[in-house]
Amino acid sequence: MTYDAAAEQARKVAEEIGGKDVDHVDTPVRPAACPVCEVVLTGAMSVFEAASPEVGDATICIGCGTICLYTEEMTLRLPTKTEMFEIVRILGKKLNKPA
Ligand SMILES: [Zn+2]
Repeated sequence: MTYDAAAEQARKVAEEIGGKDVDHVDTPVRPAACPVCEVVLTGAMSVFEAASPEVGDATICIGCGTICLYTEEMTLRLPTKTEMFEIVRILGKKLNKPA
């Protein structure tokens, strides 16, 4: 499955469940395959600002939702258990932050 096909599938699912599209910024990135579903990610998006992934940054695969990390070669790999705990800790802090 290509990135565009996965993005279209995600839009359809969001429409079916009554989700709304949000304003976001798409940034083309060097193509990298998800280590789980093998969708080739060719773009990154962020709700807040232009996404420009760097080594060690986390991303969520649009094809399967897996959290991946960018390697030195800007390919994607699964986080280690320790890295996953750190990601969850950081997300937990952001989600629990008072509005
Ligand atoms: Zn995937």
